[in-house]
Amino acid sequence: MWVRTTCCYCRKTLNFLNPDGEEPTAGGISICTECHEISLFAEDGSLRRPTGEEREELLANPDVHSALVALALTPDPLAAIALWRMSQPFEN
Ligand SMILES: [Zn+2]
Repeated sequence: MWVRTTCCYCRKTLNFLNPDGEEPTAGGISICTECHEISLFAEDGSLRRPTGEEREELLANPDVHSALVALALTPDPLAAIALWRMSQPFEN
C-alpha cells in the first residue's frame, strides 16, 4: 500500500510503498528516493532520524544495503524496488 509522508532529511514528500502491503508500523524502515537517507517511522506515522546506534544497525542490515544499492542504480523508485526484490532470497 502507498502512504504519503515527508522525508525528515530533505523534506521531500514521499509516496511510501510498503512491499508487504501493510501499513507501516513504528520502527518500520523508509529509504528516501530523493536523498537516499534512511528514516524510521515514529508512533504518529511521521518519519524520524535513526539514532547513531540504530543507523549503524540499519547499514549493517543486508536488506537495507541491497535497497540502497538498487536506489543508486536507478532513479526510478519502482525499478529500484524491482531490483531490490530480485536480490531477495526466494521464500516458500
Ligand atoms: Zn530525503
